[in-house]
Amino acid sequence: MTETLLKNADLILTMDESRQELSKADILVRDGQIARIGRGLETQGEVHDVSGCVVTPGLVNTHHHLYQTLTRAVPGGQDALLFGWLQTLYPIWSRFGPEEMFTSAQIGLAELALSGCTLSSDHLYLYPNGARLEDTIAAASELGMRFHPTRGAMSIGESDGGLPPDHLVEKEAAILDDMVRVVDAFHDPSEGSMCRVGLAPCSPFSVSRDLMRDAALLARDKGVMLHTHLAENDEDIAYSQAQFGCRPGQYAEELGWTGPDVWHAHCVKLDGAEIDLFSRSETGVAHCPCSNCRLGSGIAPVRAMRDAGVKVGLGADGSASNDNGNLMLEARQAMLLQRVANGADAMSAREALEIATRGGADVLGRPDCGRLMPGKRADIAVWDIRGIESAGSWDPAALLLAGPMSVKHLFVEGRQIVRDGHITTIDLPRVIERQNTLARALQA
Ligand SMILES: [Zn+2]
Repeated sequence: MTETLLKNADLILTMDESRQELSKADILVRDGQIARIGRGLETQGEVHDVSGCVVTPGLVNTHHHLYQTLTRAVPGGQDALLFGWLQTLYPIWSRFGPEEMFTSAQIGLAELALSGCTLSSDHLYLYPNGARLEDTIAAASELGMRFHPTRGAMSIGESDGGLPPDHLVEKEAAILDDMVRVVDAFHDPSEGSMCRVGLAPCSPFSVSRDLMRDAALLARDKGVMLHTHLAENDEDIAYSQAQFGCRPGQYAEELGWTGPDVWHAHCVKLDGAEIDLFSRSETGVAHCPCSNCRLGSGIAPVRAMRDAGVKVGLGADGSASNDNGNLMLEARQAMLLQRVANGADAMSAREALEIATRGGADVLGRPDCGRLMPGKRADIAVWDIRGIESAGSWDPAALLLAGPMSVKHLFVEGRQIVRDGHITTIDLPRVIERQNTLARALQA
């Protein structure tokens, strides 16, 4: 039995059923789970004095393309719209291999961890030069991050009227075979799982109708989740109407792409009927506010989604369309965008933090994560509010208005992976050096 005690937190934001906020309280962690929350707790195990800190559940990232950390701020893509941006980057991505996938995933996940994230999804939809999903799983495992990788795919290349170059797409039979392989090899459905695999054709415009349907059937057969990009911007809606004769929501529903085991990235352009469909079917949304701003896609109707009971989590999205990977900044941006669209009372700092934690866990089918309650997983973020960002704050719980954007400590399954603002599990300076070497080689 291993115990860790976080003692004397100024404030614990539990995100439990009643969103309790406890001042001057402790959290006792036992064997990866939260054992007790209260005052005056004791242990024979390790004790961390967290006075001067706010403690929250670890943040949950529901959408990312970790490999893109190797193509941040590429000049030709900096100011392009979505489709033009993709066409600039495809030729660079086609030179990636296993080493690029591994290193870029370590960078992306470490960056997320430093911003308080304990559980991340990833959407890897291209596999050039022998790259495989397990390159990223190895990166997450070394870092100690809870990970939901998805086996993405593209099958419609340029010669078939698609966007990606032909050599970046795969045959659909091979995609389905590899989906079966990675689920059988790496998916762990158990409570407290550190790795759950999902299936994720890249988007309705990069795979066939058949593959969308077959992936949904396979996911149901294997009991894994489904993920893709949906209704990201106006071009996306126009494409759906021209190619499929319907809106993205209808296309998704017809192919089995709605339900509690499905979450869609972006959904900027969902209309009222689609929001209603997502609510009824318990389909989740990965809201990616910075990416939506960066690519000029628009403001997702998150207020309307939440009011209709749609599950919403946050996504940093790929580093090439952000280009930052700080999930706290994402939460702040989510709050700000809803205020731009709907007024200053449209979203509180507390609600945005709830979306970032509990909301994301619910989107990923993880009721065992995203809240600090006895019996839940010990995924815990500790925020030091003695620094300059909080100086003068009257409300330490309003971290997204006045608070640090990086953690002091971070625990995943009770294991400390950030200590005093530094990653403990990997040699981050060395990984950064390796990443920069790889980026330079791609520029040559
Ligand atoms: Zn994306």
